Amino acid sequence: MRWQPAVDGDVVAGRPARFVAAPATTEEASRILRAAAEQDLAVVIRGGGTKLEWGMPPRRLDLIVDTHRLSGVVEHAAGDLITVVRAGTPLGDLDFGTQQLALDSPLPGATVGGAVAAGTSGPRRLHYGAARDLIIGMTVVRPDGTVARSGGKVVKNVAGYDLGKLFAGSYGTLGLITECAFRLHPVPPERAVVLGEAPVAEVGALLAAVRAEQVVPSAVEVDRTGSGPVTVAVLVEGTAAGVRDRAARLEKCLSGATGDLPPWWGTLPWPPDGVGVKLTAALSKLPSLLAAAPEVTIRGSAGAGVLYAHVSSDIPATIARLRTATTRAGGHAVVLTAPEPVRQRVDMWGPVPALDLMRRVKDRFDPGHRFAPGRFVGGI
Ligand SMILES: Cc1cc2nc3c(=O)[nH]c(=O)nc-3n(C[C@H](O)[C@H](O)[C@H](O)COP(=O)(O)OP(=O)(O)OC[C@H]3O[C@@H](n4cnc5c(N)ncnc54)[C@H](O)[C@@H]3O)c2cc1C
Repeated sequence: MRWQPAVDGDVVAGRPARFVAAPATTEEASRILRAAAEQDLAVVIRGGGTKLEWGMPPRRLDLIVDTHRLSGVVEHAAGDLITVVRAGTPLGDLDFGTQQLALDSPLPGATVGGAVAAGTSGPRRLHYGAARDLIIGMTVVRPDGTVARSGGKVVKNVAGYDLGKLFAGSYGTLGLITECAFRLHPVPPERAVVLGEAPVAEVGALLAAVRAEQVVPSAVEVDRTGSGPVTVAVLVEGTAAGVRDRAARLEKCLSGATGDLPPWWGTLPWPPDGVGVKLTAALSKLPSLLAAAPEVTIRGSAGAGVLYAHVSSDIPATIARLRTATTRAGGHAVVLTAPEPVRQRVDMWGPVPALDLMRRVKDRFDPGHRFAPGRFVGGI
């Protein structure tokens, strides 16, 4: 078992840790977390470290559990389109040949566990589903060291507690994910991206036209830098003939052209120290959301109703305006990351209807409140 004194870089959102442990197996992780529980240590899980600054800083921090040794593919059942992967595996390292795990991460270096725990799902979520939809089973180590498993390697498993749904988006506050079983999809033989452009006022009509074409896109992404026009990029996948036909129809309705994936595709619009906000909205209300903040750089999935914004000026007022607009649009505005002085001045999470339920889940999984304490909504 590895359990070492922390060094300079072992910091989470400005809070230095005292120890770092890097288990290589679920059993080792269980022993480490049992020992941490006995000593009442506050624990934060670290995967690729790409989203450690998201959410609020932990109220206290003793031990970082680093997942880099918990890596590799445990199983690839190609005939069943299923894989079991250890949580510390970088998403970029996964290669299933003619099959794929259709989970896009906006940040290079992200691990499987980190992507699931932060609930990040990129452009292709529209067609393949979000992280939580791709998970069919999960192994976790609970804060007291108990190993728990749910789901299985069959897609239609209905038994037991759905840990995948709870742990997706839990920000490491419920326990350590050690393995995930995912459904895979065949790699489509052909793909094409069609790009078009419209002023904000006309983007609603453009998106409606794309929908009316019924081309079954794998992704519909939008990007607007500052007050410029909105770029719309639509990905279609399938057989060569089908893709050609669907791309031609999209070129007409977008008055655009087929090209390469644009450089902004699937990336977040803020720089490393910037203020990053996740916006959700009912699909029909997305155009009004874009119009509500004409000066803010916004990018994301118009097809799934999840956008990301870089707020760079007049920060508290702009966040308040975005929050009002998203509430009107049937969604939420969550500040994912911000420098410390901004965190002091804004409500990172905004109103959360299911807080009581989330508190009960937290109390059940982590009664000592030692896992990333305070990082999640409502001080969870
Ligand atoms: C203590 C604790 C308790 C928790 N309890 C629960 C729990 O009881 N149940 C649970 O499921 N999770 C629970 N979670 C997990 C967590 O709250 C959610 O999984 C997470 O917030 C979802 O994040 P996401 O990035 O996947 O959101 P997104 O999937 O990006 O969703 C953002 C918003 O868009 C909406 N949305 C997204 N896609 C669609 C769509 N296709 N159609 C309609 N609306 C859509 C969503 O409803 C949501 O409001 C818990 C987490 C913690 C820490």
